Amino acid sequence: MLFDLDESQKMLKETVRELSERHIKPRASEIDEKEEYPEDIFQLLKEHELLGIFLPEEYHGAGMGFLGGCIVIEEIARFCSNSPLFIVLNMLSSRIIQLSGNQEQKDQYLKGLAKGELRGSYALTEPHAGSDAGNIRTRASLEGGEWVLNGTKCYCSGPDKADFITVAAKTDFNAGTKGITYFIVPTNTDGFSIGRHEKKMGMKGISTCILNFENVAIPKENQIGELNKGFKSAMIGFNQMRPAIGARAVGLAQGCFDYAKNYSKEREAFGTSISNFQAIQFMLADMFMQIEASRLLVHKAASLVDTGQIGKENARYFSTAKTFAADMAMKVAIDSIQILGGAGYMKDHPLERFMRDAKQIQIVEGTSQIQRLIIARNLLDS
Ligand SMILES: Cc1cc2nc3c(=O)[nH]c(=O)nc-3n(C[C@H](O)[C@H](O)[C@H](O)COP(=O)(O)OP(=O)(O)OC[C@H]3O[C@@H](n4cnc5c(N)ncnc54)[C@H](O)[C@@H]3O)c2cc1C
Repeated sequence: MLFDLDESQKMLKETVRELSERHIKPRASEIDEKEEYPEDIFQLLKEHELLGIFLPEEYHGAGMGFLGGCIVIEEIARFCSNSPLFIVLNMLSSRIIQLSGNQEQKDQYLKGLAKGELRGSYALTEPHAGSDAGNIRTRASLEGGEWVLNGTKCYCSGPDKADFITVAAKTDFNAGTKGITYFIVPTNTDGFSIGRHEKKMGMKGISTCILNFENVAIPKENQIGELNKGFKSAMIGFNQMRPAIGARAVGLAQGCFDYAKNYSKEREAFGTSISNFQAIQFMLADMFMQIEASRLLVHKAASLVDTGQIGKENARYFSTAKTFAADMAMKVAIDSIQILGGAGYMKDHPLERFMRDAKQIQIVEGTSQIQRLIIARNLLDS
């Protein structure tokens, strides 16, 4: 068992690291401060054919799987938390299409996302139903051969730039999680509108919005997969997404560690470099151990996805990778600020930005509490 990337994966890592250091690092704090959608970074990733890195070649992807996707996400996230969202949103909006969609849907949407000709968003969460996603109220009903959607979604990432949104709706209102179906909703459909743009703690480059659906009529063909089977497919999709979210956390933590380590060698106190103090050394050693462990968990989980080992029995590994890495990134971000002392609290350094961004990873796509529930249930069921 070799705990190493193969040559093409190493080359990918090296290439994306250089690209990120040269083009993304100098933009990161500006994106955060101006709350600016990083269109230039989208174009950069498009130009380097990274948007579909995880998709099969038949859909114009690079065929490097979710492990390839995680490598790219990590290397970008070392410098900026907003920029890897272009790949994460592509994964999120396409996953259920790839898992359950028909051939026309795959051809149109997967190819469009990989080529950077389409942008997608994903809408499950509602004002009263986040963790309790089976309790959504957005409805879809068949009227005259079309699906008509009514309801409100919240906290949707990036819908103002999206061409389509993958939307969960109730198709059998009394059947709980067994009454949910997913739909592809083009954002130019009548009756669809974007409401409030949330004011956020971090992750400010990609909007987070309310969505309103008022008699939004879409063709019957925009239904994804079988009627009322959407929740099950979505949960399988979420499992597969977890390593990608973990990779964001690993990259963010690595960025914090690199910065704090370099600073500790330059900063002097009591006549010596602060890196000579054991208290600082131990914090750095702890950070390294946690990052390394998280990266291995993320790579293992991504490899399970890529080798099709996505059965229920492996849910614990997907959730472990996401949760361990997310909680780790939060701690590493806080400790890295501690190493800088007062300077770490200031906006002259990127660590306060990383800390604000890290919090989001513990919440999105299943909070750290919900992940622990999944892990525990999975362990006790076996
Ligand atoms: C920046 C951002 C971007 C997002 N982007 C998207 C997106 O693109 N699309 C989308 O659909 N959603 C998105 N979300 C929503 C996100 O997935 C939800 O916020 C998340 O699932 C939690 O749901 P909630 O906010 O309703 O919290 P709640 O479900 O209200 O949870 C509140 C607290 O209770 C805890 N809790 C809830 N149930 C349990 C339980 N059974 N046991 C133990 N603890 C529990 C939670 O862990 C949490 O600590 C985004 C959120 C944020 C912050």
